[in-house]
Amino acid sequence: MTEVIDGNAVAAGIREGVADCVDALTGADVKPGLATVLMSADPASETYVSMKQRDCEEVGIEGIHVEVDPDAPAEELYATVDELNDDPSVHGVLVQLPLPEHVDKREVVRRIDPAKDVDAFHPENVGRLVAGDPRFKPCTPHGVQRLLEATGVDPEGKEAVVVGRSDIVGKPMANLLFGRDEGGNATTTVCHSRTDDLAEHTRRADVVVAAAGVPEFITGDMLSEGAVVVDVGVNRVERDGDSTLVGDVEFESAERKASAITPVPGGVGPMTRAMLLYNTVKAAALDADVDVPL
Ligand code: NDP
Repeated sequence: MTEVIDGNAVAAGIREGVADCVDALTGADVKPGLATVLMSADPASETYVSMKQRDCEEVGIEGIHVEVDPDAPAEELYATVDELNDDPSVHGVLVQLPLPEHVDKREVVRRIDPAKDVDAFHPENVGRLVAGDPRFKPCTPHGVQRLLEATGVDPEGKEAVVVGRSDIVGKPMANLLFGRDEGGNATTTVCHSRTDDLAEHTRRADVVVAAAGVPEFITGDMLSEGAVVVDVGVNRVERDGDSTLVGDVEFESAERKASAITPVPGGVGPMTRAMLLYNTVKAAALDADVDVPL
């Protein structure tokens, strides 16, 4: 019987833990604050940011939202980031991506104070993750790691295949999977668009993490019997005249092969959101030097 991994349930548990940490911090006169910055008129980005603000409210994190006109010069965004870096009531700064073309994304990421970089995209935080000493783990890969843990899957010694090598998902995912810490120690292969014979790799895997952004291209025949399949992909497609969300994995055929599989939606997505809250309370706790039950 294949287990369909309930990301909503696991994320709810994480949020409860975060709320306990917020209580502990409040007891020490610290109110964790997350600032979201939006420089886009894209409805999807607006939705993501408002969901993050709602999540903050639910667990007692102070949500601060700043909008920068998408047509404004890049310097206006830099100045906003600088102000939030200097604001002691803000513990996490998140600039919603993508940014307008005239803004240098790398410069923005570098500008965020690494101690407030709750996305963990700043080169210092990337370096720390690679060096095995993370301050923050990036939200999506960390969420995947916690989902595997909640499912009772210990990657240690197993063959893991990550499909995708992006800076925000694939690369850090691989780092966590082969890292020496708990939830790691897998023998890890990273595949990408230039990989010859992707199926040859995925068929060897005990754990497959799909993060390519290609709708339903990983099918059951590309998996080994009993594989654990984590689908990070979120792709909007037209089906029978309706717009719908699908992952990178063809759920029906993959479910027949897998021992456990995440659905889309309701798998990795809620975990990404929960881990952002987790990183925010961690940032506040580190800043205030308060022990919290993270
Ligand atoms: P990117 O587009 O940045 O990276 C995609 C990666 O997949 C690249 O490394 C690319 O290879 C590789 N790839 C593309 N096509 C293939 C293929 N046919 N075979 C093998 N590898 C391929 O995407 P992201 O990492 O940002 O996101 C991946 C997916 O995850 C998207 O659907 C995104 O929406 C979703 N996502 C979901 C989140 C969640 O919370 N659920 C959070 C973040 C992302 P190459 O490097 O060679 O181009």
